[in-house]
Amino acid sequence: MTTDTQFLFPELMDVVRLFGEDADCAHTFRREGDRFVNEVRVGGHTYAFAEVCPCETEIEFKRYAKRCAKLALYEALRAETGRSMPWGALTGIRPTKLAYAELAGGRPFEPLFEKFGVCPENIALVGRILRAQQGLYGFEPGAADLYAGIPFCPTRCNYCSFITADIRRTGQYVGDYLTALEREIAACAGLFSSLRSAYVGGGTPFVLSAAELRRVLEALAPLVPAGCEYTVEAGRPDVFTDEKLALLEAFGVTRVCVNPQSFCDKTLARIGREHTAADIERAFAMARRYPFDVNCDLIAGLTGESVEEFCQSVDRAVELSPENITVHTLCLKKGARLKEEESRLHVEGIREMIAYSREKLTAAGYEPYYLYRQKYMAGNAENTGWAKPGKACAYNVGVMEEIRDNLACGTNAVSKKLFARGARIERAGAPKDIPTYIASVGTVIARKRELFCGG
Ligand code: SF4
Repeated sequence: MTTDTQFLFPELMDVVRLFGEDADCAHTFRREGDRFVNEVRVGGHTYAFAEVCPCETEIEFKRYAKRCAKLALYEALRAETGRSMPWGALTGIRPTKLAYAELAGGRPFEPLFEKFGVCPENIALVGRILRAQQGLYGFEPGAADLYAGIPFCPTRCNYCSFITADIRRTGQYVGDYLTALEREIAACAGLFSSLRSAYVGGGTPFVLSAAELRRVLEALAPLVPAGCEYTVEAGRPDVFTDEKLALLEAFGVTRVCVNPQSFCDKTLARIGREHTAADIERAFAMARRYPFDVNCDLIAGLTGESVEEFCQSVDRAVELSPENITVHTLCLKKGARLKEEESRLHVEGIREMIAYSREKLTAAGYEPYYLYRQKYMAGNAENTGWAKPGKACAYNVGVMEEIRDNLACGTNAVSKKLFARGARIERAGAPKDIPTYIASVGTVIARKRELFCGG
């Protein structure tokens, strides 16, 4: 077994980040027989933890060592600061995957989550999600989800953490980008045996003209069978037109996203959107004239938005009654100008917002059906997708639970191939910037073919 404990460092940094990167502490790990001993020095105190962890293999050793070290550090920081986190010491982006792993091992997931310090409300949330995924969760060999990315937006929102570009600066690339994307989509033929869902994401796909959007839909058409779940993340209301919506219907799209983020005009202006809440209402009404399921995204924690304003947005979204409502929590990443304003986030406010959304959506008949977390989330919270009964989006479940291959096309898209029922996942990614993607799409395709069929 290795005696080098460097592999613990990223895990420990994830825990430090929960409490703020300035948390000043020192950690040591040692193994005494089958006992793992972790010591944490912080604020002039030393906290020691010992746990018996019988493990036979290097993989088991590392897994338990990481788990014990994270728990020790979290407990020490919690004791020192008097603060606890809603997800405790869990820092992974897919808590539900961990729950499924426990269940697959013949154990209920709750005790492990309790051990990690996850709050009872979040343990209950995970339980509800697992129940909502019944019938949608399961490994399907050869089945895939298909993704095509449109990395352009009308303007760049100031909180944006995606690789996307303001079309006013990058419009000259659209034609060549679509040509490259068409090539990559066409090359996906034969790389799967059945398609479970298709998803055109962004960016803002509706920033394309109707003629440009048609090119994407025509490229996908030979791969997407009739009746397949098919989402287009149309996006911001300022680019909605009847012509584009009619095009989606003609190509068999079943689900569209109208993404308000907030129904508060002051917030929309502050985050760099060039539309109002009235535009959202108009776009929603327009989408409702077609037979699509509709998803609305909201974000908790947008700068300057009060708890009351966020709750009003939840109320309005519920009144509109889309099939899906996704409640995101603001995620701060490098590249988002709001990073500089991190200190302005009011963590308690975020928790109230999340609690309100859960209560309101539950009362309105929505069930949580998927969730994921990111680093640097306000309040160390989560993003949760809610659905009316029978309206959960299979694509979101497939991607988050990693139960199917994902064929992803476009800039920064990462395709995933599952081996051994997901025990091993291999990836093939594409360049992040648009000109490099256009120039190297041949290589991107070759890598993907190598991954999915050995060349
Ligand atoms: S619409 Fe979405 S993808 Fe586009 S800039 Fe705003 S947050 Fe980023």
